Amino acid sequence: MTVDETIGGAGMGRPGDDGRFGDFGGRFMPEALVPACLELEEAFAQAWGDPGFRAELDDLLRDYAGRPSPLTEARNLSERLGVRVLLKRDELNHTGSHKINNVLGQALLTRRMGKRRLVAETGAGQHGVATATAAALFGFDCIVYMGEVDVERQALNVFRMNLLGAEVRPVASGSRTLKDAINEALRDWVSSVETTHYCLGSVMGPHPYPWMVRELQRVIGDEARAQTAELLDGGIPDVVVACVGGGSNAAGIFAGFVDTDARLVGVQPEGGAAIGRGLPGVVHGSKSLLLQDEHGQVNEAHSVSAGLDYPGVGPEHAHLAVAGRAEYPTVADGAVLEAFQLLSRTEGIIPALEPAHAVAWVMREAGRGIPSGSTVLVNLCGRGDKDAVEVMRLLKGDPGTGAGG
Ligand SMILES: *Cc1c(COP(=O)(O)O)cnc(C)c1O
Repeated sequence: MTVDETIGGAGMGRPGDDGRFGDFGGRFMPEALVPACLELEEAFAQAWGDPGFRAELDDLLRDYAGRPSPLTEARNLSERLGVRVLLKRDELNHTGSHKINNVLGQALLTRRMGKRRLVAETGAGQHGVATATAAALFGFDCIVYMGEVDVERQALNVFRMNLLGAEVRPVASGSRTLKDAINEALRDWVSSVETTHYCLGSVMGPHPYPWMVRELQRVIGDEARAQTAELLDGGIPDVVVACVGGGSNAAGIFAGFVDTDARLVGVQPEGGAAIGRGLPGVVHGSKSLLLQDEHGQVNEAHSVSAGLDYPGVGPEHAHLAVAGRAEYPTVADGAVLEAFQLLSRTEGIIPALEPAHAVAWVMREAGRGIPSGSTVLVNLCGRGDKDAVEVMRLLKGDPGTGAGG
C-alpha cells in the first residue's frame, strides 16, 4: 500500500506515518501506549497486505456475517420522493449492523498478534455486543467498558454481552457515558497491552485506528460500487448518503466512491453536529472537530439515536469536510422518527434510528437539494428491532428514559 498522495490525503488512501488526514488525526497518546499503537499499525499494515489474511477475513464475512449484503431498489419510496433510492442492506449482517465488519477484522488481527483478550468501549451497547460476539467465536476473554448511565438504560444489551461470555464493567467517572467508557478502556489497555487488544468501534482514536477501521468497513463501499455499476450499466449513483456518529459506516461506503463524481453526504443528528458546530481539539488520541464549550470542556451530544450520541467525529471526516469532498448536514429528531416510519411502511424495512437520519435527509432534500430523477444510494447500516420499544414510547409521547437506541 502506498501512502495517499492526493491533495492532503482526501482520496481515502493510507495516511502518512504520523496518521494525519490533513490537519486532523495523529496519535496523541500517553507514552505507555505509543509502542502498542506502533505495533498495531505494523501488524495491520502487514496483515492487510497479506492475501492469506484477506482471504480468511473474506470467508468470515461471507460464512459468518452473511456478506455480501444485497443492494435493494426502494421502488415505492422512489416513486414517492421522485428520486431513485437504492439501499445498501448492511442491516442484514449478523448482529444487525455494519459493526461486525470491523470486529471480525480486529479479532483476526488480535489472534495474529498472539493476543487473546479484547477490551472495548460501548455506548448504546451495539459495539459491545459485536465485540462480545467476535470474542465468543475466537475464544477470547472480553471486557466491555460502559458508562453507568448506559448500563442502566441498555439493560438488554448488557444481558446479551453476558450471554456471549463478556464481562461488562460499569464506568462511574465523568458523565458516566460513552466518552468515559473510552477513557476507561484506554486505561485498561495501558496496563494489559502485552495480552490485550483494544477493539475500538469507529473511525476514531489514535493512528492507526481511524485508518484501520475505515479499511475494515471499506467492504461496504467496494460491494456497493460493484452492485451499483451492474444495476446502472457501469454508472455510479449521483449521491451516496450515510449517517455519521463516529463515522465508520459512512467512511466505509464513501471509500468505494471517493474517486468518482458522486456527492458524498454524511448526515449528523442536530444535537451532535461535530462538523459545523464543533471546534478543533484533541480527544481520545486524535485531533478532530468536537463539541466543546469556550474552556475546551467537551459537551454532551444529544440525539434520538444512542448510536450517534458522540460529541466528536472521526478525523478523516473532519478532513473530508474541510477539503470540500464530503458534506455533513444535520436532521432533527422529529424528521428521523418520520423517516423510520416511512421506510417501514413503504418498503417493509424497519431501519435503525441511525440510518433513519440518512433517509430523513433524502426525504427532506428530494426535489430540492437533490434534483428529481437523481440516483441516491443510502447506507442502511442497521436494523430497527433494537429501537422499536423506544420509538413506540416516543410516538406515544412518553418521555421514557431518553435512551435512544
Ligand atoms: C454504532 C452505529 C452507528 C454509529 O457508528 P458509525 O461509526 O458512525 O457508523 C450508526 N449506525 C448503527 C446502526 C450503529 O450501530
